[in-house]
Amino acid sequence: MKIKMDDFLTELKDYKEVCWKNPYYGQEGETFFNLADIEDASERLERFAPYIAQVFPETASTNGIIESKLVEVPNMLAALEEKDSVELDGKLYLKCDNDLPISGSIKARGGIYEVLKFAEKVALESGDFSLTDDYRKLDSDEFKALFGQYGIAVGSTGNLGLSIGIMGAKLGFSTTVHMSNDAKAWKKDLLRSKGVIVVEHEGDFSKAVTLGRQEAEKDEMCHFVDDEGSRDLFLGYAVAALRLKQQFKEANITVSEENPLFVYLPCGVGGSPGGVAFGLITVFGPSVKIVFVEPTHAPCMLLGLYTGLNDEISVNDLGIDGKTAADGLAVGRASNLVGKVIKPILYAETTVKDDRLYEYLTVLADAESIFVEPSATAGVASFVDLNKKLGGQEAIVKTGTHIIWGTGGNMVPKEEMDHYYETGKNFLSK
Ligand SMILES: *Cc1c(COP(=O)(O)O)cnc(C)c1O
Repeated sequence: MKIKMDDFLTELKDYKEVCWKNPYYGQEGETFFNLADIEDASERLERFAPYIAQVFPETASTNGIIESKLVEVPNMLAALEEKDSVELDGKLYLKCDNDLPISGSIKARGGIYEVLKFAEKVALESGDFSLTDDYRKLDSDEFKALFGQYGIAVGSTGNLGLSIGIMGAKLGFSTTVHMSNDAKAWKKDLLRSKGVIVVEHEGDFSKAVTLGRQEAEKDEMCHFVDDEGSRDLFLGYAVAALRLKQQFKEANITVSEENPLFVYLPCGVGGSPGGVAFGLITVFGPSVKIVFVEPTHAPCMLLGLYTGLNDEISVNDLGIDGKTAADGLAVGRASNLVGKVIKPILYAETTVKDDRLYEYLTVLADAESIFVEPSATAGVASFVDLNKKLGGQEAIVKTGTHIIWGTGGNMVPKEEMDHYYETGKNFLSK
């Protein structure tokens, strides 16, 4: 592909950190979803809640609703004021999806939702099930045998694979996760221990996805979860906005022009940040300012938006290698659907170097005793960079409510997390 280079693209190509104000923000966009779609997804999750509470006892305290806490992090703010000289009149919060039950990341929203929706469809088609039944009925030999005739497949090296794998296997589906053979051993072991079939592919991850998709398409009883274009994944993520509305009520947080809401979302293929962003704008309106963040080595969404080529361009086309410690964000090509949805609603985007991901991981652990994975600390960097790089020109950036979305962490084995923490400590002492 021939690309006309300019100063901005040269910065991206040279792995420089950037802060990009979206010029399309506020323009008219195509409509793909509406509030009724989000409410429909939310109601489906409520129908399943008694089942979820029964089969995943760790969700009993929230009655089977898979949700995370919103916590104010004043010590983290103080640490950032000290380390990076940020200035904030408003309040800083962490949305703790790093602690989501069942699969420990934001993928427990979209991924689990898509599996449940498929299960509901299969159950309804069987004739032995209706929407008004108690969904605990699905936790039975009869329905497990039914689901066992169907397959669910996904290509993922990380959290999406865990989420689909754990939920699919629990329902009784024959569940397959396609991974590249360099995927982490603990993830493969964990999935296999739950009865998931893990297929390892030679070569890189996108090849694993392609081969997985081809295999699944040959089998009409198999549902392939398509990370790049799935509407169900997207809507599962969007439900977060309705839940946040409730949490805001409890915490007395208002969203208005005088008190804007800034949300910092790490972006891989775009589904999770896009779904959450769309949900928030739909529920709270234009006082929500959405900020995406990607690693300097994998800025696929930014590249697609900036060039207008959306998913027709990959970071490799610019010579960017896609290699980052933020494995949830190591994506070379953005979702076409999300690229279109996000274009008029994204306020800004920043990129971040891996060193800083580790640093903020350690700073957050020391300040708040909260341990997240490197992908999840990208939002911290984004908060800092927006405050410093845009705060001078746009005063609202220093006001209002700021939420860093902590996207993952609690499935990471302790030794691995210790290693992340030490890596951050080393960078900080340099
Ligand atoms: C998947 C993931 C993301 C990004 O989600 P996309 O839908 O790929 O954009 C961010 N953080 C973590 C921890 C993830 O697992």
